[in-house]
Amino acid sequence: MICRKCDASATILIRKEYWYCNTCFITNTNHKFRACLGKSKTLSSNEKVLICLSGGANSIVLLELVHSGITLDGTKKLRVVPFFLHIIETATEDAIRKANIIIDQCKKHNFNLYVININEYYSTNNVLPKPNIITQTKTEALNNMKLNVSTTIYHDAIVKIKRNLFLRVASELSCKIIFTAETTTQLAKRLLTNLAIGRGSQVEYDIGFADQRDKTIRILRPMKDISNEEIEYFVKLKQLNPVYDHSNTETGLQSVIDNFVSDLQDNYPATVSTVCKTADKIGSMENTTNRKNCTLCQSIVALKSAKLTAVEATIFSRQMCFKPSATNDKIEVMQSISEDKNPIFPNINETLCYGCSRNYSELNTYL
Ligand SMILES: [Zn+2]
Ligand SMILES: [Zn+2]
Repeated sequence: MICRKCDASATILIRKEYWYCNTCFITNTNHKFRACLGKSKTLSSNEKVLICLSGGANSIVLLELVHSGITLDGTKKLRVVPFFLHIIETATEDAIRKANIIIDQCKKHNFNLYVININEYYSTNNVLPKPNIITQTKTEALNNMKLNVSTTIYHDAIVKIKRNLFLRVASELSCKIIFTAETTTQLAKRLLTNLAIGRGSQVEYDIGFADQRDKTIRILRPMKDISNEEIEYFVKLKQLNPVYDHSNTETGLQSVIDNFVSDLQDNYPATVSTVCKTADKIGSMENTTNRKNCTLCQSIVALKSAKLTAVEATIFSRQMCFKPSATNDKIEVMQSISEDKNPIFPNINETLCYGCSRNYSELNTYL
């Protein structure tokens, strides 16, 4: 087969349809990354950017793409000042060994890496340590959480906690932009998960190119047009060594969706990017003046509307079940929904969105 960009013989087949030679494949991946950032026109020259590295294959590719962008000359040069961050999720020896490998991978490109433990979420002080140093923390709150709540809620809460830490570190480093490394495939999984766990109204922020929930710091996803299949080829060709394998290993709702999307990608490769393109077009119809934001995820909290929502219906039937039969008071559904007393959805529509309120009811000792 012949490469679709030049006349060399092709070595790589993407989405069972497009043939590339090695050189054109790497050029094309770089192009997708730059085109995504270029279209948005959100970066000013010498913008300070916090780049979050999980240690997975996608994050090591992001590191490479940023490095090759910065080392270019002339108009193609990526004009950002990068800061790199890795969050250790479990304080095990293995996690620390892996964090040290990521430090070395950054050092190879003359970059520094900040490493923080996820338990810093509970600290009220500044969280930023010296670069390239791993400080041990004794707090194990999140490890306990993992043992005590359902896997579905744990995964959802971890995503929100990490986002919170990204924003805190960015603010301490005076970065107004954050890059995260989600691929098309990962975003398709997140979209379906969001719909399943009641975060459908947050799709715009969780799946789109830019998460603008925070007023001063924007989270961008410049790898959103690159698929896991392309990441795998890139890692192989450049002989990179990811330290974490994020392919599905655990149970829970997210893992069921993981399997579903991975299977789609193998058998119907075009579907995954269609899913994400559809998500890109979904915007919120909410009236944005006079809005309240969720204190945990910063999404807009649902305003009272004339229509009865599924949450309100659930609360109503719950109240009917527990209501003492002697009283004949009229039940004020709409008012009681926002009351803290509600046992299934604490603080809903006051300080928390539906998704966070549901998590909070399971996790209140950990958040
Ligand atoms: Zn070629
Ligand atoms: Zn929320």
